Amino acid sequence: MVTHPIEPQVSIVVPFLNEETNLPVLYERICAILNSRPESFEIIFVDDGSSDGSPAWVSQTATADARVRLLQLSRNFGHQIAITAGMDHARGAAVVIMDADLQDPPEVIPDLLDSWQQGHEVVYAVRRSRAGESWSKRFLAASFYKVFHSLVKIDMPLDAGDFRLVDRQVVDALKEIRELHRFVRGLTCWVGYRQAAVEYDRAARHAGSTKYPVWKSAALAWDGMTSFSGAPLRWVTLGGVLVAVLGGLQTLNIIWTRLVHPDRLVQGWATLAALILIIGGIQLICLGIVGQYVSRIFEESKKRPLYFLRSQGNTVTRDRPKGDPV
Ligand code: UDP
Ligand code: MG
Repeated sequence: MVTHPIEPQVSIVVPFLNEETNLPVLYERICAILNSRPESFEIIFVDDGSSDGSPAWVSQTATADARVRLLQLSRNFGHQIAITAGMDHARGAAVVIMDADLQDPPEVIPDLLDSWQQGHEVVYAVRRSRAGESWSKRFLAASFYKVFHSLVKIDMPLDAGDFRLVDRQVVDALKEIRELHRFVRGLTCWVGYRQAAVEYDRAARHAGSTKYPVWKSAALAWDGMTSFSGAPLRWVTLGGVLVAVLGGLQTLNIIWTRLVHPDRLVQGWATLAALILIIGGIQLICLGIVGQYVSRIFEESKKRPLYFLRSQGNTVTRDRPKGDPV
């Protein structure tokens, strides 16, 4: 039995969703790396509503190794909220956030720790290369980071995911931010402090399939953009001005043609129908974007807790069988 350090120096936060084949390998690799370091550590596995055997594995491992803790969310709240829950419950002087699928190699943790010990309060791991990711995802990621950078005036590194180390001071600052649509990697940069980067080669997923299909990544990118920038609202305003100017020019053209070349006037409803459809479409898109911001205000104004914990001990709570009295 490995005993528990009272105040671990380092907390490793691992959010997971159905990763039963990856967790044992990840655990072995983290321990192999950190056992040879002087820092004491804990590993917080955050179960984001898994339906496979992974929570049971964590629970079992935690009984043999007190450095392991299981946080079970009451349902799937999403990766960003799972990270938040892990950080809320971490006790370490430094917190490392990493994925459960071994795409973030535990072998990079010593580099993160060294940089932290040199006085950096946020150390992000930047991808030198990305293995095993679909071209659509790479394209989406590359475009997103470029657009985000050009819009948002925070110094977020290109091509850094959530794999990073944050100092206790930064964790405490992040704990004060309770917005629902969270883009954690943006927030860790937004809070400031001394930041540094460490490069690594991103591995392919060890086993299983991605829990972030392209549409979910696109939703995260949209969350990132809208929670840090009002630029999409400026785009729609500009779009509106452009369409209005085009409409004005066309009106002038019609008047001019009627006065000067009345014989050239084209009759017909097809062009009109097309114009109405185009302008109607643009208006709906604009309304949609404005609506997205309004719905975010609505959701934030409800001030609901970000997540609920089903258990935070080391035992797995089983689902109540159907038909059981509440
Ligand atoms: N994950 C999670 N909740 C979700 C989706 C994903 O906790 O709703 C976890 C997942 O188990 C993994 C990490 O978030 O540890 C990153 O997900 P994944 O590897 O599927 O994303 P990708 O690397 O393909 O972008
Ligand atoms: Mg992954």
